Amino acid sequence: MSLRGSCLCGGIRYEIDGPLGRVVNCHCSMCRKATGAAFRTRAAVASASFHWRAGAELLARYPSSPGEVRTFCRVCGATLVTLFRDRPDELGLALGTLDDDPGVRASAHIFVESKAPWLEIDDDLPRFAAGDADDAEGGAPESPDTREVADVTTFMRFTVRQR
Ligand SMILES: [Zn+2]
Ligand SMILES: [Zn+2]
Repeated sequence: MSLRGSCLCGGIRYEIDGPLGRVVNCHCSMCRKATGAAFRTRAAVASASFHWRAGAELLARYPSSPGEVRTFCRVCGATLVTLFRDRPDELGLALGTLDDDPGVRASAHIFVESKAPWLEIDDDLPRFAAGDADDAEGGAPESPDTREVADVTTFMRFTVRQR
């Protein structure tokens, strides 16, 4: 199964040729700020199955916490994948940018202790105050560490290839 996705302006397109991992709704303040939404639904994706198809030059990066870099389109601002220095074989995909139905559904709410006060969660999914053992993404906001980001930049050069 191949899944296609794109940013709001369509300048950046990507394709995933493998299964998606766990899907969660992340309520942490960084995800809320980055998306402007109540929470960010994201899936774990194997880096090897993720391919940029167009617009990799439009990809901007923001180191939201040490070892973690969020990417977005520099034209339209759409948030795309998150990169992890310590887990380079995995990406965190903002599910809202998919153009196809991935078939998978959110399995939990995480970082609920940071959720927006104006949001009432009204489903029966498990809720975690913070992340849980399976989550690479999230955590308390910390000041970006440029020393660590250099490593992620290297990873980006390796990973971001159009074909
Ligand atoms: Zn865009
Ligand atoms: Zn988050």
